[in-house]
Amino acid sequence: MTRVKVVRNPYDGIQLPKPLKLDMKQAACRPYRRPELWFSDDEHEQAQAKRVCKGSWLDGIEPCPIATECLLAALENDIRDGIWGGLTSRQRTNLKNR
Ligand code: SF4
Repeated sequence: MTRVKVVRNPYDGIQLPKPLKLDMKQAACRPYRRPELWFSDDEHEQAQAKRVCKGSWLDGIEPCPIATECLLAALENDIRDGIWGGLTSRQRTNLKNR
Protein backbone atom coordinates (compact mmCIF):
# COMPACT_ATOMS: atom_id res chain seq x y z
CA MET A 1 0.00 0.00 0.00
CA THR A 2 1.35 3.43 -0.94
CA ARG A 3 1.19 6.09 1.73
CA VAL A 4 0.05 9.46 0.51
CA LYS A 5 1.57 12.38 2.34
CA VAL A 6 -0.95 15.03 3.20
CA VAL A 7 0.08 18.34 1.74
CA ARG A 8 -1.15 21.32 3.64
CA ASN A 9 -0.23 24.90 3.95
CA PRO A 10 1.61 25.78 7.17
CA TYR A 11 -0.99 28.42 7.94
CA ASP A 12 -4.14 26.43 7.19
CA GLY A 13 -6.37 26.60 10.19
CA ILE A 14 -4.80 29.68 11.75
CA GLN A 15 -7.55 32.12 12.59
CA LEU A 16 -6.64 35.73 12.10
CA PRO A 17 -8.36 37.83 14.76
CA LYS A 18 -8.21 40.94 12.64
CA PRO A 19 -10.13 40.88 9.37
CA LEU A 20 -7.28 40.73 6.90
CA LYS A 21 -8.05 38.41 4.06
CA LEU A 22 -5.42 36.03 2.82
CA ASP A 23 -6.25 34.05 -0.29
CA MET A 24 -4.24 31.00 0.64
CA LYS A 25 -5.10 29.35 -2.68
CA GLN A 26 -2.43 31.62 -4.15
CA ALA A 27 0.14 30.97 -1.41
CA ALA A 28 3.45 29.75 -2.78
CA CYS A 29 3.95 27.62 0.35
CA ARG A 30 0.69 25.76 -0.14
CA PRO A 31 2.05 22.85 -2.21
CA TYR A 32 5.18 22.38 -0.10
CA ARG A 33 5.50 19.01 1.55
CA ARG A 34 7.38 20.29 4.58
CA PRO A 35 5.29 23.01 6.24
CA GLU A 36 7.50 22.68 9.32
CA LEU A 37 10.18 24.63 7.41
CA TRP A 38 8.18 27.80 8.12
CA PHE A 39 8.36 27.11 11.85
CA SER A 40 11.88 25.73 12.10
CA ASP A 41 14.61 27.08 14.38
CA ASP A 42 17.24 25.88 11.92
CA GLU A 43 18.66 28.78 9.88
CA HIS A 44 19.15 26.62 6.79
CA GLU A 45 15.52 25.53 6.86
CA GLN A 46 14.39 29.09 7.50
CA ALA A 47 16.38 30.17 4.44
CA GLN A 48 14.55 27.55 2.37
CA ALA A 49 11.19 28.86 3.54
CA LYS A 50 12.23 32.44 2.86
CA ARG A 51 13.23 31.54 -0.71
CA VAL A 52 9.68 30.31 -1.28
CA CYS A 53 8.21 33.51 0.17
CA LYS A 54 10.52 36.00 -1.48
CA GLY A 55 11.40 34.06 -4.59
CA SER A 56 14.85 33.23 -5.81
CA TRP A 57 16.22 34.26 -9.13
CA LEU A 58 18.98 31.64 -8.85
CA ASP A 59 16.53 28.84 -8.10
CA GLY A 60 13.93 30.05 -10.62
CA ILE A 61 11.33 30.58 -7.88
CA GLU A 62 8.81 33.38 -8.32
CA PRO A 63 7.97 35.45 -5.23
CA CYS A 64 4.78 34.48 -3.44
CA PRO A 65 1.95 36.57 -4.92
CA ILE A 66 0.47 37.27 -1.48
CA ALA A 67 3.73 37.94 0.39
CA THR A 68 2.78 41.51 1.30
CA GLU A 69 -0.65 40.51 2.60
CA CYS A 70 0.94 37.62 4.49
CA LEU A 71 3.44 39.91 6.20
CA LEU A 72 0.73 42.44 7.03
CA ALA A 73 -1.44 39.68 8.51
CA ALA A 74 1.40 38.64 10.82
CA LEU A 75 2.11 42.24 11.86
CA GLU A 76 -1.55 43.16 12.35
CA ASN A 77 -2.23 40.05 14.39
CA ASP A 78 1.04 40.19 16.33
CA ILE A 79 1.89 36.62 15.34
CA ARG A 80 5.12 35.58 16.99
CA ASP A 81 5.79 32.19 15.43
CA GLY A 82 6.91 31.23 11.99
CA ILE A 83 8.01 32.94 8.83
CA TRP A 84 5.38 35.19 7.32
CA GLY A 85 5.90 37.21 4.17
CA GLY A 86 9.49 36.04 4.13
CA LEU A 87 10.38 37.47 7.53
CA THR A 88 11.17 35.65 10.75
CA SER A 89 9.61 36.66 14.03
CA ARG A 90 12.75 38.60 14.98
CA GLN A 91 12.79 40.42 11.65
CA ARG A 92 9.11 41.35 12.07
CA THR A 93 9.81 42.67 15.56
CA ASN A 94 12.71 44.75 14.23
CA LEU A 95 10.46 46.07 11.46
CA LYS A 96 7.78 47.07 13.99
CA ASN A 97 10.30 48.82 16.22
CA ARG A 98 11.71 51.02 13.48
S1 SF4 B 1 4.60 34.83 1.92
FE1 SF4 B 1 5.50 32.86 2.40
S2 SF4 B 1 4.41 32.15 4.21
FE2 SF4 B 1 3.21 33.80 3.32
S3 SF4 B 1 1.73 32.79 2.03
FE3 SF4 B 1 3.47 33.31 0.77
S4 SF4 B 1 4.82 31.55 0.76
FE4 SF4 B 1 3.35 31.29 2.43
